Amino acid sequence: MIKFLDLEKVNNRFRDEIDSRISRILDKGWYLQGEENETFSDNFAKYCGTKYCIGVANGLDALNLIIKSFDFGLGDEIIVPANTYIATILAISQNGCTPVLVEPDINTYNINPDLIEEKITDKTKAIIIVHLYGQVVQMEKIWDLAKKYNLKVIEDSAQAHGAFYKSKRVGNLSDASAFSFYPGKNLGCMGDGGCVTTNNEELAAKIKAIANYGSDRKYHHIYKGINSRLDEIQAAVLDVKLKYLDKDNEKRREVSKYYRDNIQNPKIILPKVYNENSHVWHIFAVRTQERDKFQKYLQDNDIQTIIHYPTPPHKQGAYKEWNNLSFPISEEIHKTIISLPISPVMTIEEIKKVVEVINEYK
Ligand SMILES: *Cc1c(COP(=O)(O)O)cnc(C)c1O
Repeated sequence: MIKFLDLEKVNNRFRDEIDSRISRILDKGWYLQGEENETFSDNFAKYCGTKYCIGVANGLDALNLIIKSFDFGLGDEIIVPANTYIATILAISQNGCTPVLVEPDINTYNINPDLIEEKITDKTKAIIIVHLYGQVVQMEKIWDLAKKYNLKVIEDSAQAHGAFYKSKRVGNLSDASAFSFYPGKNLGCMGDGGCVTTNNEELAAKIKAIANYGSDRKYHHIYKGINSRLDEIQAAVLDVKLKYLDKDNEKRREVSKYYRDNIQNPKIILPKVYNENSHVWHIFAVRTQERDKFQKYLQDNDIQTIIHYPTPPHKQGAYKEWNNLSFPISEEIHKTIISLPISPVMTIEEIKKVVEVINEYK
């Protein structure tokens, strides 16, 4: 079976380094808010080119903390792509804000910048963009709108560690960016993890405090905070893996290039790419009108696929109030999309087999 993502193989490449870092933590007996978190946060901030990085418990919390720290709340509207993973939208709802869904561009699967302005009202406070599947959002129009209407821009970078726009990395393209280090992400830990990157000193301090019971120093609580911290073991694992992120992303690019150069089947629509060097291919999503049949065919040929995602957020039970709304582009994507195996540990034989099997599909 060609796995969608062989995580055991991904992480076992670093077993010795991870083992020794975890041993060091056992020797020290210090598990939260210590040196490992500090080292990784510094290194990840440097990697992204931002002044600050705050380790938190997961990607959803990272988004949540950004929204909270801007003091957005009841009545405030936040623009978000209709086809994102539901976490982005949940973070908005959880703060009492109103998510305003905007259709994606069918070619990039990212928010369509031309459809944003018509959704801006005097209640709009921010635009959250999502670099979906690892492809960076074309930022120029987003920045222009933010300037024109005095809005914050927030990145959901959970699927795009290492991607860049012009000369800047994802995480450094907005007022604040949320990352997830969920195991399957391009930079993933061995459990839950996340972070916020920003260049805003005041915001960084506030997020750090809110994530730690609203405390700026021990037993001194200036916000009604939460508990959302990146633990030492996860920070150590991430610090090991960060060194290999660019190489791993390069490998993903090679797999993607091979797929795009060699998959030739009129029934399969390949993804479109804005910038070959920038895309980090968290997901290699193709589209087909016969998605279920195609998925079963691949399964029968020992190729595992996953669907990102089968149901659009506005059709979910969690958002019953939206179930009758219509977002045709998003719905078309959710109905036809399917993700092929892609990872830094795929062998050339596996990549070739995926291509062969797909080219023989009738
Ligand atoms: C994974 C993901 C999240 C959530 O991250 P968690 O660490 O699982 O909370 C948010 N947004 C997007 C786009 C994601 O892919």
